[in-house]
Amino acid sequence: MTQLTDIIVKQIERSGPITVAEYMAQCLLHPEHGYYTTHQPLGAKGDFITAPEISQMFGEMIGLCLAQTWMDQGMPNPFTLAEIGPGRGTLMSDILCATKSVSGFHDAAHVVLVEASPRLQQEQADTLTGYNVDWVADVTQLPAHPLFLVANEFFDCLPIQQFIRTDNGWQEQMVAAENGKLGVMLGAQKPIEIYGDAPLRTILEICPSANAIVADIAQMVGSYGGAALIIDYGDWDLTGDTLQAVCNHQKVDALENCGASDLTAHVNFKAIATAAAPFAQVSGLTDQGVLLERLGITQRAQSLAAQLQGDALENHITAHRRLTHPEEMGHLFKTIALTPKGAIHPAGFDI
Ligand code: SAH
Repeated sequence: MTQLTDIIVKQIERSGPITVAEYMAQCLLHPEHGYYTTHQPLGAKGDFITAPEISQMFGEMIGLCLAQTWMDQGMPNPFTLAEIGPGRGTLMSDILCATKSVSGFHDAAHVVLVEASPRLQQEQADTLTGYNVDWVADVTQLPAHPLFLVANEFFDCLPIQQFIRTDNGWQEQMVAAENGKLGVMLGAQKPIEIYGDAPLRTILEICPSANAIVADIAQMVGSYGGAALIIDYGDWDLTGDTLQAVCNHQKVDALENCGASDLTAHVNFKAIATAAAPFAQVSGLTDQGVLLERLGITQRAQSLAAQLQGDALENHITAHRRLTHPEEMGHLFKTIALTPKGAIHPAGFDI
């Protein structure tokens, strides 16, 4: 049993069951033993691999999409080039590389990263040596300037609440402890009007912090201009239990070894669009594979391939397929863009 499991079990024994959201928050961000506090999660040696870690082409396409949107909006100067949950800093590094030759873009950009983990902040600083970068703890601290922002695999790690439709209406799923072990139990009934009705045993997941963060970003994009590109695995509207734990590239039990595995849930893009809609224009939901193809990833892949041979060429071809093919990340991962109402939609996104 990990130290954090012991802490959570004792806390529940003392004060009663906690919500799934409270449980996720402790596991991921506990200041001493949380997963993101203690681990280097990303890459072949980490627990999971993300699109920017698969190939530089991902960040290049996203960078050029942001730069094109910046030009479409009259090249505002200054503007904030932001990323939330930047991991090792690879995506921002590739965005900056790809946009180096976009006239005026780097001069106008103030790079700001939103990162909760001091450990990953250090890693981002190392990756982005040579660039002028600032960090803030949350999106409300971003400067009051036009905001061009990307979030890749950020919203999936925010804590979710789970509600289950039972004979008693909607009840919240809670994490309880028995004989020193964690398990789940149903909590008090919640007023049914909040979530409407659904067949018995339906599970609904709600991510209050995602909704709040999206509303903050959409408000900034709506008021100051800019765009927010959100990329994650999930779907338009979801039901069911999507909470999952991954350790060393394998799925593991989410209630065991707290703090040792990455906990995520699928992103509900309808909830994101609903939170953003009062303040910003929301694009259509677009498959990652479709977006990257429209942005020209195949042409880029071909030009990179011309300089490669042997294993490097094989790896490059595999990476292109992994990012775009519907049976790999191409369909599972979805993208959505927020822009000011009436602005041109970012290139590549459905409208
Ligand atoms: N975008 C990166 C990494 C995704 S992992 C990539 O594509 O490779 C999730 C990232 O979100 C990590 O950097 C993690 O530390 C950060 N994170 C998790 N919860 C956060 C929070 N509440 N606020 C800010 N950053 C958070």
